Amino acid sequence: AHPLVSRPIHARIDLSALRHNYLQARRRASGTRAFAVVKADAYGHGLLRAARALGDVADGFALLDLAEGVALRDAGIRQPIVLLEGLFAASDVAVCVDYDLRPAIHCFDQIAMLRSMPAGARLSVGLKINSGMNRLGFTPDQVPRALAELQALPGVAAVMLMSHFANADDPRGVDWQYQRMAALLADYPGEVSLANSAAILRHTQVRCDWVRPGIVLYGGSPFAGERAASFGLRPVMTLQSRLIGVQEVLPGDRVGYGGLFEATQATRIGVVACGYADGYPRHVPGGSPILVNGQRTVTVGRVSMDMMACDLSAIPDAGIGSEVTLWGEGLPADEVAAAAGTISYELFCSLARRVPVSEC
Ligand code: PLP
Repeated sequence: AHPLVSRPIHARIDLSALRHNYLQARRRASGTRAFAVVKADAYGHGLLRAARALGDVADGFALLDLAEGVALRDAGIRQPIVLLEGLFAASDVAVCVDYDLRPAIHCFDQIAMLRSMPAGARLSVGLKINSGMNRLGFTPDQVPRALAELQALPGVAAVMLMSHFANADDPRGVDWQYQRMAALLADYPGEVSLANSAAILRHTQVRCDWVRPGIVLYGGSPFAGERAASFGLRPVMTLQSRLIGVQEVLPGDRVGYGGLFEATQATRIGVVACGYADGYPRHVPGGSPILVNGQRTVTVGRVSMDMMACDLSAIPDAGIGSEVTLWGEGLPADEVAAAAGTISYELFCSLARRVPVSEC
């Protein structure tokens, strides 16, 4: 049988960088405990892979739904697991009890679901405060009633107060939200969890028992225009491919769908085996940075489904087979995201299933 030689694109996940980033985030949070946020398949890095890498260092994990929580327990994870969107149906309650998953309760309907808890069962839960983001949670006014209802349920073991910041990464900051919760938090004898990556790095006044780093674990910066490396973070996902074609174009020649790029001089164009069906953003209006043979250049023209083009003018030794880095080691995903008008979170989460992934 002939071996299948596949397209050269692949993603490499650096598990030691993931561990390093987790420890770095926790250190930045002055040693408070940290839920590793591993929702969305660990931001595209692979849930079980991330759990394996963090299993013996993480204090806890935060993710979205029951299936992910059950998968972590089946993989042997023993630490606390928080479900950030809480319960979706009363039937979820028994699963939470069986697998010791802590739903973050954000509305009275979910409190009603908890009433179906089997007699004798015990479950810790979160109580989500809507302190201004207006996504999920009880308003500060509703919190005393919600808390009383939860604490009146015989099966509820402990309630962790939680909230989420809308502007931790921008000049509005977190104080305006924090002040709305200050009285509730000051009187509260139980645990509290508020801070995401940006709050951990920038708003150290938000002291609490648990922080919830997400993007920093994966080596992304939560701040536009600020490098993750400046916070001591390392890239975790490196997406690489190779050149599979080279074209010599003349002045006036155009490249790709719509001919968006027009050469003004004779230009060597490299064709990379990576397109939007691999998870690369289609919309990079002014081109985005890319490394060919480790040298920086720029993409040209429209990204197509399976391919994209780049300018090889300054890289004369590049040819078919040359290594291309789309993001990761040597090229921060944040820079590519900025060129595409998005954030590294979206790049990581968009990595397509067809891209083979390896670990190092
Ligand atoms: N906590 C909650 C409730 C979230 O929804 C998220 C991510 O969206 C996080 C924490 C982690 O945020 P970040 O990746 O910015 O650290």
